[in-house]
Amino acid sequence: MGTWGIGGYERPDYSYDRESVEALRYGLELGINLIDTAEFYGAGHSEELVGEAIRGFERGEIFIISKVWPSHFSYNEAKNAARASAKRLGTYIDLYLLHWPGEDWGKIEETLHALEELVDEGLIRYIGVSNFDLELLKRSQEAMRRHEIVANEVKYSLKDRWPETSGLLDYMKREKIALIAYTPLEKGSLARNSCLGEIGKKYGKTSAQVALNYLIWEENVIAIPKAGRREHVEENAGAMGWRLLREDREKARGCV
Ligand code: NAP
Repeated sequence: MGTWGIGGYERPDYSYDRESVEALRYGLELGINLIDTAEFYGAGHSEELVGEAIRGFERGEIFIISKVWPSHFSYNEAKNAARASAKRLGTYIDLYLLHWPGEDWGKIEETLHALEELVDEGLIRYIGVSNFDLELLKRSQEAMRRHEIVANEVKYSLKDRWPETSGLLDYMKREKIALIAYTPLEKGSLARNSCLGEIGKKYGKTSAQVALNYLIWEENVIAIPKAGRREHVEENAGAMGWRLLREDREKARGCV
């Protein structure tokens, strides 16, 4: 489950706290056990709501992703940012990502090394990056001293298949790095694609479910749709547990 907009966008927004927490809790009940958040979302309020939503669930069965914003890319600031995120979440972070590459390679490297220490300290479990192209991903892998880059979160949807065409997805598959696909529904527009709906009929699935299954079809791809509405959460959960046939996957590409 994505959380951009949950708890606000650039600033905190407390208007939909109850509904947002309920939507996340409903998703967890349905078995969607991964939540993607960031210090940037709602200036930290999104993390607070995630912390509230997971209360009462078995922590070990939930996987929480958070991210450090480039303005905090330095040895000390990255460590402080991670500690502040963990405090807002009320728990450790499973996967901690560099949110965007930023301009300065030296700072990226320093931040990656700080994150390695946070793994050793037990505050975060895994390290990853976000919005890194193939070259930057390789460079980041080389910079690591003791731990590995396990994920790269990038925009990927049926409509925007650049990870396929750029070779990024193939490389990540070979390296066994998870590709976390953000904006997988193109902000909901793929849910209204009737051509995808036609493909879904054979499986008893909707357009949104076909669009998401297309992505998670690949073993190393995780899709993180954001849904504030209960019915959307439920529909998105139905994207799991089945598989499009290869020929229907081809057809789905022609729908957008
Ligand atoms: P998205 O998931 O493609 O679309 C979210 C929109 O789709 C919401 O308006 C939602 O409506 C609607 N929606 C969800 N499920 C639906 C369904 N089954 N049928 C119809 N509409 C549906 O876009 P996104 O929020 O940009 O991306 C997902 C997540 O990726 C973000 O929330 C964030 O966690 C992450 N992200 C990361 C980065 C990065 O730089 N790493 C950048 C962008 C996004 P309701 O909310 O009304 O249910």
